Amino acid sequence: MTTQRCHEGACGRIKLLSPRADSVYVPFSSFEPDPGRDLLSATVESLCTLGCAGRAPGTPQGQAARRLVIDGLCQAGTEPAGTDGYVQAVPGCQGANVIAQVGGHGPRSERIILVGAHYDHLGQSGGQIYWGADDNGSGVAVLLDLARRLVGRGSEVRRGVLLCAFDGEEPPFFLGPGMGSVHFVQYPTVPLERIDMMICLDIIGHALGSDETPEEIRRSILCVGAERSAGTGPLLDRVAAEARGVRVRRLDSHVVPPLSDHFAFERAGIPFLFFTCGRNEHYHMPTDIPEKLDYGKLRATSEFLADLVVVLSQRPDAPVRFLPKGREDAVTLKTLNQLIVGLPQASVRFREKSRWLQRLSREVIGGRLLSRDEQVLVGGMVLELEANLGWGFAGPDGDGR
Ligand SMILES: [Zn+2]
Repeated sequence: MTTQRCHEGACGRIKLLSPRADSVYVPFSSFEPDPGRDLLSATVESLCTLGCAGRAPGTPQGQAARRLVIDGLCQAGTEPAGTDGYVQAVPGCQGANVIAQVGGHGPRSERIILVGAHYDHLGQSGGQIYWGADDNGSGVAVLLDLARRLVGRGSEVRRGVLLCAFDGEEPPFFLGPGMGSVHFVQYPTVPLERIDMMICLDIIGHALGSDETPEEIRRSILCVGAERSAGTGPLLDRVAAEARGVRVRRLDSHVVPPLSDHFAFERAGIPFLFFTCGRNEHYHMPTDIPEKLDYGKLRATSEFLADLVVVLSQRPDAPVRFLPKGREDAVTLKTLNQLIVGLPQASVRFREKSRWLQRLSREVIGGRLLSRDEQVLVGGMVLELEANLGWGFAGPDGDGR
């Protein structure tokens, strides 16, 4: 139905995720896309071929990645929703956002759920290519997979869904005017008042911890920000409880640094949910390659997110109310405790901290809020936990087991 509007008319099924004649594609041994693989792994691998290598904004590789994303969204059956077809130029990074929509059905079809994942990465430097398989090939792969799933859900989808592949998320553009999500909020293609939820996907493809880490922890994905809009937490929890193959764990946004595209929306008072598996030892390294990802977990994440978007699209409250000071301290402490208790290899010192967290949990459940100092300490625990899960247990507190 949208074939005639696809980029350069190129929307044949065979061309999806295959190298483009006009890109500088050279197969990179094991990364060569295999047509037998599923869309998620094929997308990640295609974004990590030499044609797209590094995906730096404003480079031929960034443009090749953009064409790939446009083709994927087009073939999924979405409508273009940029300022020029699927594209919204972002002059500040000499790149462009890619924006598609899936129409909603019924009386709230003018309301919008926005799903965003940045497709740029660090490019190349010092003779090294920064492939960015997890950051953020994983998020883009799920964005394309979600597009296909949501088109297939038809009239179940009751709000419009805007699918945004943002450019310019990485340094030096992060949080500046050249950041694609910042540009979108400054020059929105739809009135911002119509957006009831921004869902941000960034680094969602790896299993947490090492091979020795229990599966229950390996399969975790963090969800940040549910506490910042009225009624979102219970909806999220309900969908998360049904999820298979991925374990959604919530954290309040005040204990997590502003790490990705959701931040521009948060600043604009738009409800948001930020999903991530956190940073690991491959973060912003040339070793962030497709074979490091857990595709079973990624598939489960995409299935869960499709259900979540459908449920969020059906919620009766419109507009969804943003809560600038929303907090659920008990939920944050519960997530931290569960992760620490679930880590048999965690260091002695780290475990001692978990006893402190358990005491805090009891007090918070008893009715008091965390103080500012305690919030800072809990934020430190989150970063320490991320390091423990990502880098193994000779990690930052240095005292081994
Ligand atoms: Zn990222």
